[in-house]
Amino acid sequence: MNTATNAIDFASLDRAQLRDDGGKLLEASLLVTADIADAVAQAVAANYAVMPTGGLTSAIGSFDYKTDLVSGFAGVVAIRPKGTIAPELVDPLTPAEDLRTHQMLIRRDQGILAVGAGLTFVQVNAMLAEHVGPNARVLVDLTSVGSAYVGGVVATGAMGPLRMRPSSTLEGVVVADGGPPRLLAGDDLDQVEGMQGWTGMVVSAVFRFYEVPPAEFGLVLPVQGTDVDAVAGLLAYLEPWTRVNLPGAGCRLGNGDTVLNGVELVSRDSLEAFIEHAQDPARSKAQGLLQSCEYAGSDMLACITGWSEQSVDDVLFSLMDPETETIGGVMIEFGVGFSSGAEMETFRAIREGAPDMARTKARMVPEGRMKPWSTSTDINISVPPDAGTIAAILTAYADYRALVRDLSGQQPAGIDVELSAYGHLSPHGMDPHHRVTVFADLGLDEQLDATRQQVLAGKKALIADLVRATTAGGGKVTGGEKGVPSLVEIARAIGGEDNLPDDLRDRLRRARQAVAQAPANFSFRAPGELRG
Ligand SMILES: Cc1cc2nc3c(=O)[nH]c(=O)nc-3n(C[C@H](O)[C@H](O)[C@H](O)COP(=O)(O)OP(=O)(O)OC[C@H]3O[C@@H](n4cnc5c(N)ncnc54)[C@H](O)[C@@H]3O)c2cc1C
Repeated sequence: MNTATNAIDFASLDRAQLRDDGGKLLEASLLVTADIADAVAQAVAANYAVMPTGGLTSAIGSFDYKTDLVSGFAGVVAIRPKGTIAPELVDPLTPAEDLRTHQMLIRRDQGILAVGAGLTFVQVNAMLAEHVGPNARVLVDLTSVGSAYVGGVVATGAMGPLRMRPSSTLEGVVVADGGPPRLLAGDDLDQVEGMQGWTGMVVSAVFRFYEVPPAEFGLVLPVQGTDVDAVAGLLAYLEPWTRVNLPGAGCRLGNGDTVLNGVELVSRDSLEAFIEHAQDPARSKAQGLLQSCEYAGSDMLACITGWSEQSVDDVLFSLMDPETETIGGVMIEFGVGFSSGAEMETFRAIREGAPDMARTKARMVPEGRMKPWSTSTDINISVPPDAGTIAAILTAYADYRALVRDLSGQQPAGIDVELSAYGHLSPHGMDPHHRVTVFADLGLDEQLDATRQQVLAGKKALIADLVRATTAGGGKVTGGEKGVPSLVEIARAIGGEDNLPDDLRDRLRRARQAVAQAPANFSFRAPGELRG
């Protein structure tokens, strides 16, 4: 066990000069520490409310709280794990409870590793490559893997193109809430995953790691987004390759030669916006993709990525239906392939460029205008390989896009509405994010509010349509990337928790129980629905 060494003087800590991803300042003082359990114990003993922080990459509003809920505390302290340039590898027999924020251990024979809350998954995978082998991976793949911290990723229940929550490969999580740090496992992981730090602070996490096929590839196919049946046909066809068969810890993924670890949407609009600001080599590659869209008469790109034993040309061939010489009905003549190494880096820069641009625009205050208002969809759906169900889901999104475009055309002078669509299309987890951003000239507060309400009403209708279409088609709504806040949003959109599918309703109830049992020092940021 680590023992407390120094008494912390919380009253003399500086105010946190940290901002969330939306640019909003955290309302707290700041303590950066390598020993989370000790810092939390001292903060709770000194009657401080605790706001755990990680890489600060999460969505706008994650750190908000109501001031009346902290009036009984001596103050609010943001506790942040000390990061590091290079993780320190420690004795594999070290208990996970004792890990400092920058430490990790690998139990190679068991296929597991334990990692401190202040590391990123890029660092974790680099250590695995060095100490286990070049194809050993933790299957956590959110696009902010290089900036989000392990603790923050577990606390948000984040997932990337693979659409796997951290708990899919988690053995345990060590949590501190004032007493001795506790190792949670099994169903108890629900008390922390996706809970945003409302129940305690993640000290370290124990993950299973796996071996993936050696070569990484990307394949970009232009598609017509308005032809929902064609896109649905493609996704239903690709479904068998998108299921990840997890073997025993440390073993090779059980998917045969090729695993598709992402089917991601990039709209032509976002590609054009990206090209305006990008540098070479991403810019010229993106121009090539735009040209493919033009030749194919398409408005969207399906960006397929994966690991394989084969070269990208052979992968293309193996994915092709020999009878139609298409991939799920989509002609391959305008497809573009990317292979391992630098090409994949460029490919990722293009694929992630669109969301990045949309996020940045929503954060920046244009001259003479108000701070933009922005909202993005986040509802993850797992569907069977049934083109009809997938088409119904895609139609709901197409209707939302049409509504936003109509709204955009109806705005008074001084108000602009922009839509950017990007993100996850894998049938294993469909969640194509649709970000709407509203820009308004100074003084147009009332008009901005009216537009905001219209967008929110459209988004609410979209969520209800998605839940209906998914349930009717035998699919499953599994929540969203923000963990429990995504569940709360879905419940609000469909008229309350009682209308949620059974498993989500249970999860929300368990979340409420966990919040009720957590010290008020942590639970003050939880939404009203969960605080009872
Ligand atoms: C470029 C970019 C790409 C992104 N891509 C994805 C993506 O593909 N998928 C996705 O799901 N999200 C994505 N996100 C959102 C974000 O990266 C994730 O939500 C991430 O998990 C947040 O981690 P963080 O360390 O930055 O947490 P923070 O932003 O610091 O905190 C997030 C929340 O977790 C809590 N928290 C932080 N650390 C701890 C801890 N140690 N213990 C308990 N609670 C804690 C905080 O209180 C807060 O409520 C992206 C963001 C950006 C900017």
